[in-house]
Amino acid sequence: MDKLNNELLNLLEDLLEQSDDSFEEVLIEYQNSRDKLKQMIAQIYMQYGIDGELDFNQLQRTGVLKQFNEQVEEELVKIGTLEVFTITAILGAAFTQSYYRSAFTLEQNLNVGINFNRVNQSILDEFINQNWSKKHFSDRIWANQNALRKALSTNLEKGIRNGDKLDKVAKIFDAQFKSRSSESMRLVRTETAKIIEESREKIYAENGIGKIQWLSTLDSVTSEGCIELDGQIFDIDDHNKPDCPRHPNCRSTYVPYLEIGTNIRKDNKTKEYIPYQNYNEWAEANDIA
Ligand SMILES: [Zn+2]
Repeated sequence: MDKLNNELLNLLEDLLEQSDDSFEEVLIEYQNSRDKLKQMIAQIYMQYGIDGELDFNQLQRTGVLKQFNEQVEEELVKIGTLEVFTITAILGAAFTQSYYRSAFTLEQNLNVGINFNRVNQSILDEFINQNWSKKHFSDRIWANQNALRKALSTNLEKGIRNGDKLDKVAKIFDAQFKSRSSESMRLVRTETAKIIEESREKIYAENGIGKIQWLSTLDSVTSEGCIELDGQIFDIDDHNKPDCPRHPNCRSTYVPYLEIGTNIRKDNKTKEYIPYQNYNEWAEANDIA
């Protein structure tokens, strides 16, 4: 079982890494927008600054601030739209990969044929569009964008009123973009981990695995709570079992807990178990694109 457990943990890490990679283009877009807005502020300082300071009332009167805030809004809508689109694709890929690859890993390690369904758009929609903790992931993205927009405009106003110079205002923009893009990264990681877990539990349930065991990646950064849960066994349909992931950047998962007499069925499809050398061979034999 150790081999199976290790492979399931490794697969989780792999899929989380893939998700990080795919999200890279959104992070680049955050940087582009940040630079573009900083460029605009620099121009405002150049055009309206006296001794490196701006006059807030003048900027408000002339509509310069309004124009700037509109540009901020435009940039953030652009990032937010790309973000929703990218995360939707990431979650779809994570679900599909986790579903088939977890099935393959179980087959290889348990020497049984595993039941699985074809992942189609309606299954993906069902899982991607569910509301975790009462909120759809896109609401969280837009809330994050909104917080960034407010922070930028409030800090800009405060900075100008304080008589801050350009470099100080620019630094505030750097910090705000950094904190909000990290938040966004955290969000996609958590959503990806959740959907990976969901797809696994689906495979377990579809194969009559009644009990599952909490398994944490144990290292120096594992959270106390996850260390405590490590190895604990739960009924798969226990609605009070701890949610996995437990926290942002959690690397825990549920693995099957197989007792004697477990109703994992042998030979369910071909009535014959064929151990495949690798995932690609298995995927091809099962007609998985
Ligand atoms: Zn954890």
